Amino acid sequence: MESLEVANDLVVCVTGDIDYFRVETIERLEPYLSLLDRYGVKATFFVTARAAEEYPERAEYILKRDHLVEGHGDVHKGFYESESVQIDRLNAMKRVFSKVFDLEIEGFRAPWYKHNPATYLAVDRAGLRYDCSKKRFEIAFKGVPFVQKRYMDMATYRYAKPLLELAGSLYNLYSKSPRLPCYITSNVLEFPTLGISDYSLIGDPRGPRYRPDESIKMGEIWVECLASLKQRGGGVLTLQAHPCRVSPEYLASLDYFIQHALRLGAVFSTPGDLARTVSR
Ligand SMILES: [Zn+2]
Repeated sequence: MESLEVANDLVVCVTGDIDYFRVETIERLEPYLSLLDRYGVKATFFVTARAAEEYPERAEYILKRDHLVEGHGDVHKGFYESESVQIDRLNAMKRVFSKVFDLEIEGFRAPWYKHNPATYLAVDRAGLRYDCSKKRFEIAFKGVPFVQKRYMDMATYRYAKPLLELAGSLYNLYSKSPRLPCYITSNVLEFPTLGISDYSLIGDPRGPRYRPDESIKMGEIWVECLASLKQRGGGVLTLQAHPCRVSPEYLASLDYFIQHALRLGAVFSTPGDLARTVSR
């Protein structure tokens, strides 16, 4: 697979999905965007066409604040159909953004990351440039009994970490989710997304269910993943932090992560910008 060459060896992309826009009010979006603006970080929000149509002023607000809106499907439903049905759904999604916001959608993340092999070809045929529907794990905290509830709080974490990193590598190898974005079809760059999202840490019943006053722990886990990526030679870490869950109660997690990512030497970018700078 041909991979993207990036100038800096450690790059972070902040992303957050918006499924329905029911709870992502302007009051909730404002502190999230202001935090990013303080660090000059541009976020990419994957929004369903249905949500953007129902709450155009909220999508417009993100765009006016100079952050990015990309596609999260026509509706919030997994992409498991045939290639032709998926192409129709993606084209319908693009039409809504083009008609309502005069916006040319370039990127896509499948709802709940649920997709099949036909999705990549459909994304290509629909004229999109990048996809974020795969997951990647630097450290496989998730899906491992006992570990998933405790993460770095485990007394034995220091000893378990090399094994969890190895498990992450095996997952990435099996899922074909490399450190650097790769062309998954001739025109579509794949940016695998870190599988440890805000949902894994707050919402998932199998997870630690951190409270807002434990936000720093979330930031520490994300930094740990980034440091692990750096140690392996760097790459692009695409973070998922849904505004509906993170803002405003858990924003300290993102603040901590950005501060420490900068200290690790990371630069912030967006999948769209990285896809545009690619030399092929
Ligand atoms: Zn979603």
